[in-house]
Amino acid sequence: MIKVTQRGLIKNIVNFWSSHYGPFPRIKKNSSWEDGFYFGKNHKGADGVNRSKIDMWEDLQKLNLETALPEDVESIVGKGNLARIFCNECHKEVQEAIMLQADESDIHLCSECLLTASKMLNKL
Ligand SMILES: [Zn+2]
Repeated sequence: MIKVTQRGLIKNIVNFWSSHYGPFPRIKKNSSWEDGFYFGKNHKGADGVNRSKIDMWEDLQKLNLETALPEDVESIVGKGNLARIFCNECHKEVQEAIMLQADESDIHLCSECLLTASKMLNKL
């Protein structure tokens, strides 16, 4: 298990985008990106319009990752909860959680649910 935070997700968003959809070519030719190998060229943005994943990657790099909010990330890449954490037990959005790596998908548990679980085990 590891601790994950909303700020940590935001600070890692550029790397996350690149590792999922890149590697992106880094050179521009004739004012447009050289065609390179990356997974899927376009992604639906916040306005519902497909944009280049490279353009989104460029825009993500312009964010101040120390202060950017989930809404700022979503204004570039659309919804998808890339910068949000939801507890899998109580379904509340939280700033930090413990992430359990399960076979099918990761599980996030907030401090309240972890405390409840701890009380159940310890019969407090
Ligand atoms: Zn919870």
